[in-house]
Amino acid sequence: MPESKREVRPIEITYTCDACGQGLMNRAGDMDPQSGDILHRCPICDHEQTFQWRAYPRIEHIGLEEQL
Ligand SMILES: [Zn+2]
Repeated sequence: MPESKREVRPIEITYTCDACGQGLMNRAGDMDPQSGDILHRCPICDHEQTFQWRAYPRIEHIGLEEQL
């Protein structure tokens, strides 16, 4: 495959706490390599939630012409 280049823009993806609806969940531990579980905690109410194979907040890049 030949090399190709394109311009992209960064997108921040956050997850609002399911418990209080205010805080943005933060990663609170390492990913379990077996299950992919990543513990997160709300900085406002201390609610804990586990996400699999994804962490918040995170930055992804999409093409300039792509929709969110
Ligand atoms: Zn919360």
